[in-house]
Amino acid sequence: MDFRIGHGYDVHALADSLPLVLGGVEIAHTKGCVAHSDGDVAIHALCDALLGAAALGDIGLHFPDTSADFAGIDSKILLRRVAELLREKGYEIGNVDCTIRAQQPRLRPHIDAMRRAMAGAMGVDDDRVSVKATTTEHLGFEGREEGISVSAVALIYRPADGKFNLQFRIQNCLYLYDQTPNRDAYEAVENNLSTPCLRAHDI
Ligand code: MG
Repeated sequence: MDFRIGHGYDVHALADSLPLVLGGVEIAHTKGCVAHSDGDVAIHALCDALLGAAALGDIGLHFPDTSADFAGIDSKILLRRVAELLREKGYEIGNVDCTIRAQQPRLRPHIDAMRRAMAGAMGVDDDRVSVKATTTEHLGFEGREEGISVSAVALIYRPADGKFNLQFRIQNCLYLYDQTPNRDAYEAVENNLSTPCLRAHDI
């Protein structure tokens, strides 16, 4: 199994009277994120974590904020596309974890809705998606309510070719061993395989 881990981080400034969208959920608040897209800073950090795990660059590379195609776009569409990109490379999403730093509003009531929304966009079960929120005790730009930051990590995996091969090789090895009780004959068969078979005592 080929495991990969990725990290993402994003910041958006807050401004009055803009919609606040976090983790795919619109949240009632007096301020929202300034952005080219819908400003979903949580999904942006998550996209970067997923892309980073697969060494596929970052969200700006795939969805440039200079492109009119992405003006005001629902970031769940971007997350869905990122999940597709990973699957095109043979990866599946193991789990993701996001930490949102915002002084206001209180995010606890929205956590499960965010998990469902992001899990839906990625095509995974809700329990593979964790969202946590914290204030910064009024410290820093988040604490002054000038912006929101999010960090995210993602674990992805790709069943290695060797997994199938190993199962096949074990079965093959047991078969050969049964068919060739003569140890010398067994060794000869094993030595003629393009990749060495497991020794009987390794199985
Ligand atoms: Mg962003």
